[in-house]
Amino acid sequence: MHDKVLKYVEQAKSYADKEKQERARSVLPTSLLRGDDINDTSLPDLLTSLLKWFKFDFFKWTDSPFCEKCSTKASQNEGYVKPLEEELCYGAERVESWRCTSCDSILRFPRYSDPLRLLETRHGRCGEWANCFTLLLAALGIQVRLVVDWTDHVWTEVWFSNKWHHCDPCEACFDAPLMYESGWGKKLSYIIAFSPWEVVDVAPRYTRNWSQVLTRRTACSENELAETLEALDLLTRSKSGLETPQWREDEKAELLSMRDSIRNDVSEAELCGRTSGSLAWRAERGECGFQLHPVVQEADDSLLIITNPKVSSNGATKLEAQLLCGAKVTKLGYTQCFDFRGPSAALELTTDTPSDAFLSDQGFTIEAWIFVKSEELDPEAFRNPVLSKHGTASGWELRLCQKGGVVFLITIDGQHIELTSNGESGWPASWIHVAASFDGEKLRVYVSKELMGEVVAPAGNRSTFEGPLCLARNPAWTDRSASIAVHSARVSGRSRDPTTFLPAPLADGSSFL
Ligand SMILES: [Zn+2]
Repeated sequence: MHDKVLKYVEQAKSYADKEKQERARSVLPTSLLRGDDINDTSLPDLLTSLLKWFKFDFFKWTDSPFCEKCSTKASQNEGYVKPLEEELCYGAERVESWRCTSCDSILRFPRYSDPLRLLETRHGRCGEWANCFTLLLAALGIQVRLVVDWTDHVWTEVWFSNKWHHCDPCEACFDAPLMYESGWGKKLSYIIAFSPWEVVDVAPRYTRNWSQVLTRRTACSENELAETLEALDLLTRSKSGLETPQWREDEKAELLSMRDSIRNDVSEAELCGRTSGSLAWRAERGECGFQLHPVVQEADDSLLIITNPKVSSNGATKLEAQLLCGAKVTKLGYTQCFDFRGPSAALELTTDTPSDAFLSDQGFTIEAWIFVKSEELDPEAFRNPVLSKHGTASGWELRLCQKGGVVFLITIDGQHIELTSNGESGWPASWIHVAASFDGEKLRVYVSKELMGEVVAPAGNRSTFEGPLCLARNPAWTDRSASIAVHSARVSGRSRDPTTFLPAPLADGSSFL
């Protein structure tokens, strides 16, 4: 514990280094260079711009190093190798070794801890991201700390409006301290903040369940931890002749109160899974929020079936999908299904969606077995999408009406064509099938496999949305998400009639468990 903490005490000194700060300012675009106008009111906006610029323009993520020879990423990790002299002088005590699977070259990935070097390399994982970003903020005269989470993540804290604020450059977000526990599903333990002025145990800020976090803090007793941190905190300042920061007592009280308080105020941002790193890398670390589930694509008809992971069919290709914002696989009665009842809960296809069935010459059909309660739906149908590949200007979507019935929307020649089903019979307290098809001429909608409306669509070009296919959410708006359970869903590259619709769930689930 002591050694790991000491390593970051050393690293954090960089942030007060005037030369390093000056170098850091030289890489910032002029639009982000501010003079004296940084204050509590302007800082949140500036942070938003800095986070965006850093994530999307300046720094790159590295799962594995890039092979220049083959213009591809090396894919085979061969462990750590001894650092070279020039790597060590920028604090790369660990150097990963990777083998390019195309040309067999060995590639080195030195994990530099000197943020000055990172201003040049501009790539890495969260450690490099947070280290470099923290220096950049310090260079602008912003009060910052580097925050190290012992379960393997690093971010920044920023001081404004008399408080320390969470800020994560990898995710380009701030003020979402509960995201690691509530969104990524991390089992947090030690989280410590470092600056040239202090060493602080900030774990209570990042959890809603302090007693559980305590059970995982087993490296030493809490007393020993407090003593170690206090000694290193004093050491940090004594070397540079600095005084105890003015916020010390207030923050102490704040962190103490966070241990005991019940925090029900989890924001939408905090419920989302990790977005930095490749999907495979995130999945391996279990940080996608919730687990990944295979989606089955049948070989014929560019057909896609989404069911629970235990069901699959012959000759099927598995695609990957991600459960978002608290969506989960659950049981309703005896029937396994997806539960999308949380705000924004959804399933999104994460591998490339197969060619959009909407473009098929043989028409297309979308259908799902759902369980829905009228009172859990929004009065506006566009806020209740069941199946959607729909953006602002184009796509297709099947929606639910609160009073019963469905709406089918497609885009032809840039115009949205909508068909609303007949009847307002409400939703039964059981599984029900909803479907829509387009045969190139007519749109049709079905409820319980009964035709509930048809309309002739104008001739023209079908316009598709390039975003992902989503279940229970419109991919372009996270606030358009249907509160439903889904047993199975299918997208077919032909126009089907009710005799070939998806079979009913095996067991009847008459109420939510
Ligand atoms: Zn290569």
